[in-house]
Amino acid sequence: MNKKIGILGVLFTIFILIAFQASVAKNYAMEDITIKSNGGVKNVIILIGDGMGLAHIEITKICYGHLNMEDMPYTGYELTDSLSGPVTDSAAAGTAIATGFKTYNGMISTVKVNDKLVNVTSLLELAKCSGKATGLVTTTRITHATPAVFASHVEKRSMEEEIARQLIEEKVNVLFGGGKEKFSDDILKLAKKNGYEVVYTREGLESANGKYVLGLFADSHIPYVLDRDNKTVGLLEMTKKAIELLEKDSDKGFFLMVEGGRIDHAAHGNDIASVVAETKEFDEVVGYCLDYARKNKNTLVIVLADHETGGLGVGIDYGDPIDEKEILNIKASTETMAKEIENGGDPKEVIKKYTGLDLTDEEVKKIEDAMKSDNKYALGNAIGEIISEKVGVRFVSHKHTGVPVPIMAYGPGAEHFRGFRHHVDTSKEIADLMLFGGDRMIITNGVGVIKGDANGNYRIDLDDAYITLNQYVGKIATNDDEKRLDMDNNGIIDYKDVALIMEMAES
Ligand SMILES: [Zn+2]
Repeated sequence: MNKKIGILGVLFTIFILIAFQASVAKNYAMEDITIKSNGGVKNVIILIGDGMGLAHIEITKICYGHLNMEDMPYTGYELTDSLSGPVTDSAAAGTAIATGFKTYNGMISTVKVNDKLVNVTSLLELAKCSGKATGLVTTTRITHATPAVFASHVEKRSMEEEIARQLIEEKVNVLFGGGKEKFSDDILKLAKKNGYEVVYTREGLESANGKYVLGLFADSHIPYVLDRDNKTVGLLEMTKKAIELLEKDSDKGFFLMVEGGRIDHAAHGNDIASVVAETKEFDEVVGYCLDYARKNKNTLVIVLADHETGGLGVGIDYGDPIDEKEILNIKASTETMAKEIENGGDPKEVIKKYTGLDLTDEEVKKIEDAMKSDNKYALGNAIGEIISEKVGVRFVSHKHTGVPVPIMAYGPGAEHFRGFRHHVDTSKEIADLMLFGGDRMIITNGVGVIKGDANGNYRIDLDDAYITLNQYVGKIATNDDEKRLDMDNNGIIDYKDVALIMEMAES
């Protein structure tokens, strides 16, 4: 018998034993995993305009002129379909962006494997185990779908009290938004126990200084830009403070997601003036972050939408031409107008007061009919439809559509975010840039027999993590190769498996 093969065989067995032991002895909680950044991007800022299609951007540009988004040097199109079909919701779209997995509408960073619910690791959780400070900022409730997917795992987006608890347990450094009503006394107690400074006002925001800050600036969503008073905390000031806090938190950089969350709500209501005002506020945040990235070179800024809302068309084939002055003249959301009419206000007078527009008898009748509807949104929707057409735009629905949405990028690796893509591709691209700085070479003989050896060279090294990230994340582990890369044996290959391989490679 060949002696060489005998020795190789012994070594081989030892390798397998070591690998096997490592794979059973490991505690798989994400917070127990520590990985290094291997020349990856230091700061990652993801800006999500919820429901923001190209037409939402176009009408805002018609009203305000040049937008900061136009200065983003690389652009592409994001396909948004989920496992539920061509039209996604924010939960499934957000899960795809945050984890690289497609899932069903309504699910928050979870997938179904053989009818069992499995948690999927997010970019934020990955950033955290590589030592970065983390933050989530939004104009919706902080427990709403888009922020939730980055730091919680539940079957249904409506489980917002549970999401609140998980956000606190995850110890995201900065949590700013609305949603006070979803934080029970118990959860607030837990927050304080976990070291959170909890603030509710602009003064509180300005003086906040802790390593963990929870800012809840409204009971539910933060009011629309058009409905705010001078005490309302806005998206730009939350973003500035978040960056200030995160910057000093860690010398390894930060991961921050900021959501212009109410562009979507405005579009659901066909409220064109609020679409414009919310998109403008979001664009100011884009400008601030772009400026920050120009000064702090190792910062990647990604701007995208999760899906389009309303099927907005700018310009209609009859009636009034587009009039940006009429749009800019509108002083309240349609929600506010609807409330005032519901409380006995005369439709003609209320609309005139807030918009300067005169209703026809036909339009008054449409409003009166809507008031008789059982649908609580009917009145607001009717007002939105009427005003939209008067200023020269029209929405085809009050729901999401499946059209591709824009993605824009600036910073190291920004050139990767071009062409037609899906949210899941974008997620993995961000993970790649964050962990490896992109453009690592793949040399592979196929998956080896040792757990985690993605390139078949009988060692666990960074190439294995890289290959697993780029070729396997997003998959249910079904064949033997995939099962060998499912390090925690939970049935899927996600960012946690990549992190586990990296940790093994680095130790
Ligand atoms: Zn929506």
